[in-house]
Amino acid sequence: MREPIHAVQAVSETWRPERLLRWAFDTYQQEVAISSAFGAEGMALIDMASRVRANFRLFTLDTEFLFPETYDLIERVEQRYEIKVERVYSALTPEDQEQLHGSALWKRDPDQCCNLRKIEPLRGKLAELQAWITAIRRNQTPDRAHAQKVEWDSKFQLVKINPLADWTSEAIWQYVRKHDVPYNPLHDRNYPSLGCTHCTRAIHSGEDPRAGRWADFRKTECGLHSPEPRSAAPLVTIGAQPETEGNLRQRTSVSAPSS
Ligand code: SF4
Repeated sequence: MREPIHAVQAVSETWRPERLLRWAFDTYQQEVAISSAFGAEGMALIDMASRVRANFRLFTLDTEFLFPETYDLIERVEQRYEIKVERVYSALTPEDQEQLHGSALWKRDPDQCCNLRKIEPLRGKLAELQAWITAIRRNQTPDRAHAQKVEWDSKFQLVKINPLADWTSEAIWQYVRKHDVPYNPLHDRNYPSLGCTHCTRAIHSGEDPRAGRWADFRKTECGLHSPEPRSAAPLVTIGAQPETEGNLRQRTSVSAPSS
């Protein structure tokens, strides 16, 4: 399915998000889905999608380490937009992960932890789809700086659509306020970027908006939007713990609610 994107790639750079979403839904039908972690950008995108199409597909990578406020927001999204959020889990429960890799893997090897709880589950989910839609913006991180609005995702082998690629944070918040879009209350408590509880802290005055993510490591991305795997070198020394062996417990991706 690479051909259709050549035709729209250049022209889509001038399209507003709603037009791009309409093209994506018309082109890929039920084989396109929005991926969201329910940050401000994701919430704006979900609201835009709801104005274009009812019953659009939306999934989230539930690492089982999200903030209670995030789980609450997911339920609010389901109610307000009358959709079921497809929750995608790791093959390992947190307990399995601790048994296999030792406690607090995120403190020793966040790349491996993100791989287990985000990348591999995402790979499985994307195998169901022809295209995925994200809320990334070019000025968020160096890895996102060259994102096109429509591009071929060679890492996951499907079309990737980034309707908000050229939006600013200010424009996102303007949209959120104008349309009374629900958002995570942690944003009002100095958490501009949200991920797992273990790897997210509030930022201090003057810090980069993503400074609170993996603050003890030279890591700015979980790897979902990085072209190649990279190593997260620690900024501080944290005592290594031995890995343990055990049996992997296979889990299925679960569609739907409650948490
Ligand atoms: S953000 Fe942290 S806890 Fe979450 S999957 Fe990545 S390393 Fe693990």
